[in-house]
Amino acid sequence: MSVPVHVVGAGLAGSEAAWQIASAGVPVVLHEMRPVRMTEAHRTEGFAELVCSNSFRADDPLFNAVGLLHEEMRRAGSLILRAGDAHRLPAGAALAVDRDGFSAEVTRTLAEHPLVTVVREEVPGLPPQAWGSAIVATGPLTAPALAADIRRVTGEDALAFFDAIAPIVHRDSIDMTVAWMQSRYDKGGADYINCPLDRAQYEAFIAALLAAEKTEFRAWETDTPYFDGCLPIEVMAERGPDTLRWGPMKPVGLRDPRTGRRPWAVVQLRQDNALGTLWNMVGFQTKLKYAEQVRLFRTIPGLENAEFARLGGLHRNTFLNSPRLLDPLLRLKAAPHVRFAGQITGVEGYVESAAIGLLAGRFAAAEARGEAPSAPPLETALGALLAHITGGATAETFQPMNINFGLFPPLAEAPKGRERKRAYCERALRAADAWLGRPHTLPAPRAAA
Ligand SMILES: Cc1cc2nc3c(=O)[nH]c(=O)nc-3n(C[C@H](O)[C@H](O)[C@H](O)COP(=O)(O)OP(=O)(O)OC[C@H]3O[C@@H](n4cnc5c(N)ncnc54)[C@H](O)[C@@H]3O)c2cc1C
Repeated sequence: MSVPVHVVGAGLAGSEAAWQIASAGVPVVLHEMRPVRMTEAHRTEGFAELVCSNSFRADDPLFNAVGLLHEEMRRAGSLILRAGDAHRLPAGAALAVDRDGFSAEVTRTLAEHPLVTVVREEVPGLPPQAWGSAIVATGPLTAPALAADIRRVTGEDALAFFDAIAPIVHRDSIDMTVAWMQSRYDKGGADYINCPLDRAQYEAFIAALLAAEKTEFRAWETDTPYFDGCLPIEVMAERGPDTLRWGPMKPVGLRDPRTGRRPWAVVQLRQDNALGTLWNMVGFQTKLKYAEQVRLFRTIPGLENAEFARLGGLHRNTFLNSPRLLDPLLRLKAAPHVRFAGQITGVEGYVESAAIGLLAGRFAAAEARGEAPSAPPLETALGALLAHITGGATAETFQPMNINFGLFPPLAEAPKGRERKRAYCERALRAADAWLGRPHTLPAPRAAA
């Protein structure tokens, strides 16, 4: 029998990784610190505990990016999806699960697997070389000793403890008859998309921002020194009506080609991925409720029809600068016997975390069997997500990401609207089946999500 792969953390990602490894006939040692040491959010000692909502989001595999990811994971034999399907609750077009039954099934399946050894202990540092191949899947609330050791090896600014997510917009939904490309004072290339506001529009925007509904910080998130350096826009607006005009909305060095003049205020967007399909709203990190963000940001000239790949947020979250630190097969460049998986790699969400666990597990299992690991094609949801975190995203501004169609290579011939989503999904499932070496099939269409 081959030497075991060590997996640290039995959350969504670590459980899936352990399952993929054991399913490939390779032994696993799964280290989980609960209940010896709990995190601030977990309440049980079960594997794959859902710390908040019980939803895996939309389950439509032909029109929705996360539904597509579900389907690819099912086809790759995912334990998380199998247990999710078995404990499904009525939730319209979404996949919602009975959290206790789901977690119990994942725990039982792994604990009873003859190739899985469960060790309930805190791992205090990066897995030593003597362990051989290892996967760290310790999540957004990684225990402090391990986090400190990761920082020691990767460098001070390579591991963040909070995210500050500015909304990200699909490039093709921005009205470029209103917005224009220019860098401040024309320094460098015309790299930014600029959306102009006149005085009345700016004042209305600030008033609406102040009145908009915000989400609250959890008790253990409130005492963060982080927010002094990276304030949410609504907090800046509370400090005075012109604060944003001197901050992220400052118009200096910019000229609206439609008027030939400097606008009263500007919202800038900067390219967020190598494909050029996603653009982030510079300095617009926010705790506004999601619906409020959509409503408010669509009042910005040029963004009236904006489609958001992800909305803004600020959370306690431990994550690596993966585009800089990880190789395309999720190995830490500085210590290649260690892979990372889950939310700590800079993906966001239960399903995305499990998806990266699935890939890390398959890669580690292939290596343990003396085979060459094969990455999923870029056209698949698994491949698009992997490619984004391991190189497609801009390292300097890297923030956690959900799966969305903006991560996929654009289609050569793009139909419009819903049909476009379907074309992405059909292309992805063809590529996924070829990658998995299984006959190609399309799922029956489900209700639109
Ligand atoms: C408060 C909160 C709420 C969230 N709500 C949602 C939501 O509603 N929907 C959603 O899609 N996503 C949500 N997320 C984001 C994310 O999807 C989940 O955190 C998800 O559980 C991440 O999966 P993971 O496997 O990477 O980490 P986790 O599921 O957190 O698993 C990590 C595991 O590692 C263990 N561990 C940590 N350090 C060590 C160590 N040193 N040694 C041994 N074991 C260790 C932990 O005990 C844990 O079991 C939320 C995150 C947080 C923090």
